[in-house]
Amino acid sequence: MSHGHFGLSMLIASLIFIPFAKFGLITLNEYTYVVVMISAFSFAPDLDLYIEYGNKRVFEHRGISHSILCAIIAGIVALVFGIYLKLSTTLILFTFPCGFLAIMLHCLGDLPTHAKLRMFFYPFSKNEYGGLEMFYANDKGVNEVFFIGGVIAFALIYQFVILGAPIV
Ligand SMILES: [Zn+2]
Repeated sequence: MSHGHFGLSMLIASLIFIPFAKFGLITLNEYTYVVVMISAFSFAPDLDLYIEYGNKRVFEHRGISHSILCAIIAGIVALVFGIYLKLSTTLILFTFPCGFLAIMLHCLGDLPTHAKLRMFFYPFSKNEYGGLEMFYANDKGVNEVFFIGGVIAFALIYQFVILGAPIV
């Protein structure tokens, strides 16, 4: 998927963090912040398509950037930025899981497409995952549905579940 990743990640992240908001572990602002940040950075693994050196791609597409190892590194990078940006203590606790989730949710979105994830458990396993061939990654219609659907889902979840009030 391309921009569909944004919507899918937004939908799943907004569901995952409902209990944290409902039980008062994060504020409404923090809830919005983590959902938007996860969605915004869920495109990151596909940067492997654009990183070139001497007209050659540095990374194999759907290789190391689509792996648990990359998710852990993303979590650490998010943590470092969180500390650097002097985020609230609560948000700093959420930086690692958010960075990790951004990559994992991207991988989830790639599973139904044609190409497989080649290095998901690198360096521990060479098993490949996905390639379910349900739709093409660049299918415009599917991407639109995921993108718009995810944003609308987030809006509805925020309104009815997080705020728990009818639209005014
Ligand atoms: Zn991808």
